[in-house]
This record gives sequence, structure tokens and C-alpha cells, in this order.
Amino acid sequence: MDKLAIVVPCYNEEEVLKIASEALRGVLQDLIQKEKIAGDSFILFVNDGSKDRTWELIEEEHAAYPEKVCGVKLAGNVGHQFALTAGLMTAKDMSDVTVSIDADLQDDVSVIEEMIDKFHAGCDIVYGVRRERKTDTFFKRTSAQMFYKLMSLMGVKTVYNHADFRLMSKRAVEEFSKYKETNLFLRGMMPLIGYQTDSVYYDRKERVAGESKYPLKKMLALAFNGISSFSVKPISLILGMGLFIIFVSVIALVYALISYFTGHVVPGWTSLILSIWFLGGLQLLAIGLVGQYIGKIYIEVKQRPRYNIEKILTADGESK
Ligand code: UDP
Ligand code: MG
Repeated sequence: MDKLAIVVPCYNEEEVLKIASEALRGVLQDLIQKEKIAGDSFILFVNDGSKDRTWELIEEEHAAYPEKVCGVKLAGNVGHQFALTAGLMTAKDMSDVTVSIDADLQDDVSVIEEMIDKFHAGCDIVYGVRRERKTDTFFKRTSAQMFYKLMSLMGVKTVYNHADFRLMSKRAVEEFSKYKETNLFLRGMMPLIGYQTDSVYYDRKERVAGESKYPLKKMLALAFNGISSFSVKPISLILGMGLFIIFVSVIALVYALISYFTGHVVPGWTSLILSIWFLGGLQLLAIGLVGQYIGKIYIEVKQRPRYNIEKILTADGESK
């Protein structure tokens, strides 16, 4: 039977921690009873340097349910993505499959069962996807939609309306651990891993208690990080713009020469206008060109795995 670890990053979540713990323990109980997961499956709370009583509460829960509730205490606040990674890395050595979920129970815990079913059917990654965003504010909904559009425009593969509620098998987490980059944008990295994946759908609810730990500033930072960590397209855009301006300068040349010969110009205008267009274009082109190299360096320094072998068929049979 597979041992499940539910990984929950928590930052100042004292109001929801006990509620979350109870709900998730219920899920574990239910799945254990149905014999879908091993009896020693557990919840792993990651305290992301909370300033409130979150860690004390995790300790209390652990004392009350030592086998069901485990905890990781990070020395300081490192942010959601790093906290979640710390949890996954810790959990992978203690379990066969992980499910990551936010502490606020906005994601529907009842679909965890569906995730496990898909895992047993052979999936290594199962994405939790929000069906609708009724409970989100108009602003959050539209900004999120714009973000997903922009991401796909920039050539980044993401799962639409999927945040960080997902199941990952042990081997998927292990493959993920080979991505050594520091600028983490987890939901963009998962599709790179490969393997068989699937999605489960649910309606996102309101926060059970407390307030969002993702103010606009953090949301924008996450969005910008997502794009800049996955795409060097903005650099190509500069290069393209440079080429375009040089092209415009040719048109400007023709126009300026005609104006010059028909004699409707102030002295000095022709050479000035031509220099402005041509030099502007040349500068953009040069920046774009230098940028192309920087983009390559950027991709190289990430040292991402180039491939992930799932199976090898040889004379001795199947391996890995
Ligand atoms: N979180 C974290 N570190 C942070 C900010 C948030 O671990 O610096 C956790 C938080 O406790 C929650 C999850 O990340 O479990 C998502 O945060 P939140 O629910 O506030 O985001 P929202 O749902 O509003 O986007
Ligand atoms: Mg939330």
C-alpha cells in the first residue's frame, strides 16, 4: 500500500491550523479505511517562519496525533514556493506519494481521493484545477486570467487555473529535485517533468479563516518570476523591435529624401531625423543581440535536467 504525505505550507495560519489538521486527518482516516493508502500516511505541516502561534499549534497537533501530524520548522520566512519545496523534499524520503495543499482549505479536500485514484491508475502528477472562480474577487479573477494568457503567449506551459494543489508520486518529486534553480515557479516546472498526468476539478472556496497571505505585491512578484524564470521571449521581443525600427528608418530615409528634394524642409532636419531612427534601431538591435547571449547563459546556469527517462527496454527486460 502506498504511503501518502499531505504537505501543507503555513505562514501565520494560527486561525486555520487546527481546522485544517482536523479536515485533513479526516481525509486520511477515510482513505485508510477504504484501503487506498497505507495506515501510516501522514500530514506534514511546514511552518514558513510564522510570526504568530502557528508552530506552537503544529507542535500541539503533533503531540496529540504523533503518527498522523508531522511538522517542519523553517528558520525564517522564505515564501510559499520555497516552503512547499522544503516540504516536498522532506516528504519524499518518508512517503510514496505526496499531495500539496494550502492551509486555508480553499481547495476542496474531498478531491484528494480522486487524485489517489488517478495515481493508482498510473498518473505521476495529478493537478487540482479550479472549475470556476466564483469566490474570488473580480480583480483576482481577471488578473489571474490575464496572467495565464500572458504565460502562454510567452511560451510557458502551465495548467490553466491550477495553483499548487497537486499530487506527485515519489519519482516525480525526485525528478523535480534535480531542478536546482533558485527562482522557483512550481506550477511552471511540473509540466517539464513529463510522466503521465491528469487533472481533477473542484470549486474553490473562501478561506476558512484568516486572510490571504498573497497581497498584490507578492502576486505580481510571483507572476513576474513565473515569466522571467521560464521564458527568454522578452529578449527576442527587443531584438524584433530593433529590426522593425531599422526597417522604419529605411522608410524614414525615403520620406526624408523626398522632402529634402522637394525643398520643404528646415536645414539640418533630414540628417537629424535619419540619425535618430537609424541609431535608435541599431541600439535596440545591439541590446537584443547581447540579450540573446544572456538568455542562453541564463538557461545554461539553471542546469535543468535535459530529459527524464521513464523506462528502458533491453534484452534483459524493462528497467527503471
Ligand atoms: N504561505 C507560505 N509562505 C508565505 C505566504 C503564504 O507558506 O510567505 C502559504 C499560506 O500559509 C497558505 C498558502 O501559502 O497555506 C497560500 O497562501 P494564501 O492562501 O494566503 O494565498 P491565496 O489563496 O490568497 O492566493
Ligand atoms: Mg488561499
